Amino acid sequence: MVINLSKFRTKVLFCITSITLVSLFISAIFSLKVIKESDANILSARSSAYERTMKRDILSLMMAYPEHITGVKKSENGKVYIVMKSGNEIIYDDEKEKSFDEKIYNADLQDMLEELYPLWDTEDIMEKNTDPGRIRVYSLFKEVYGDSQSKVSSNLENVFLGGSGFGFNSNNNASKSLQKAFEEISALAKCKPEIYQYVFPVNGTFNYRFIAGTNLLSPHAFGIAVDLKSDSRDYWKWATPEQGQQRLDSYPRDVVKIFEDHNFIWGGKWSHFDILHFEYRPEIIIKSKYFVEQHEKIEPWYYGFPEGDKNVLKYIKIIEKALN
Ligand SMILES: [Zn+2]
Repeated sequence: MVINLSKFRTKVLFCITSITLVSLFISAIFSLKVIKESDANILSARSSAYERTMKRDILSLMMAYPEHITGVKKSENGKVYIVMKSGNEIIYDDEKEKSFDEKIYNADLQDMLEELYPLWDTEDIMEKNTDPGRIRVYSLFKEVYGDSQSKVSSNLENVFLGGSGFGFNSNNNASKSLQKAFEEISALAKCKPEIYQYVFPVNGTFNYRFIAGTNLLSPHAFGIAVDLKSDSRDYWKWATPEQGQQRLDSYPRDVVKIFEDHNFIWGGKWSHFDILHFEYRPEIIIKSKYFVEQHEKIEPWYYGFPEGDKNVLKYIKIIEKALN
């Protein structure tokens, strides 16, 4: 038998090529499948991270405005709303891409809670456009504190700050919280008299006005903000960042801490600094208080919140029922 070597080589080559092509084909299909699976994982991880943040935000809001938010609703097109005592609904996410200014002028609840307010001492003037809490949803404030000058005025209660009475909104515990903060500040001033010069005389609280240079109502218009003793370096429009930093360096942080303990945020933690300004914003403080990065990834989504609290448990159930 004569072996045709050249034919044999051709056959071997043909076999090797076929095997290689088939294995390439199989591995291509396999890798496609892997890519598809990993894509799906990324997408579901993304959507579940979004949903978790949304639920945690809504829980913070319900804890912050317990008498004013009565429910949560998901519409047929999937949009989520909080339902107010009046029956009005406020959208969580309008799904619009917004610039910094657009968020200031036209925020939804998600924009308002997006930037985490630091409960630790930030030391320096914040980086450009870092203003946690300066983005506000006015429809929420109007529902809670009054939607006109006369309505807000009728909700004011006098709080005595250093011997003079100042009007502050009595709704949602705002005036009570201011009073408690000042009781603690007065007690502190007895052992640290140097803090007096930063607090008194208090500059003002309620003032139905717009934010300088805008057509946006100031939080002072709702009677939920207090300006302590003023200094020319306090406001970003009056002072250079260096002057602001100098004022920030000397500012007594125990006063800041007392306000934060009572659900007030401080304008000293904004790049558009407003160092004499403290604003009652329980939703911002509550979100920060229960925000720990790892908690955002642990099941269930409300991990870290005080679920032993009967009210919190009630809100969790409302959110679960509405959004699942
Ligand atoms: Zn102010």
